[in-house]
Amino acid sequence: MKKALKCWEIKKCDCAVKATCDVYNEEMNALKPDPSVVNCWDYLECPESKRNLCEAYIERQGQECWKLTSTRCNDNEILEFNEKMRLCRKCGFFNKHANRHI
Ligand code: SF4
Ligand code: SF4
Repeated sequence: MKKALKCWEIKKCDCAVKATCDVYNEEMNALKPDPSVVNCWDYLECPESKRNLCEAYIERQGQECWKLTSTRCNDNEILEFNEKMRLCRKCGFFNKHANRHI
């Protein structure tokens, strides 16, 4: 049977739109986390003082941290989405795991 296209596939939404879309994020969050993938804070040995301020840790989204805008990787500074994605594209964690979903 042919797979039905998702609305973001039909509209060809870019990453910035998907990251702020409730429909997209709810569907992605419902996917069972992959037990073979570590969380960003473990992979990068993120200190507790930093992770406790970070949305990825607070929301337990450490397997898809690049989708969140309020992460603290950049010396605790909150970046605009496009700036943040420039940082993520250089990140070892992103380059190892992001192609599972995008
Ligand atoms: S997104 Fe960055 S700052 Fe946040 S928990 Fe992961 S590694 Fe730490
Ligand atoms: S730089 Fe991006 S991909 Fe890497 S840990 Fe931080 S939020 Fe995640």
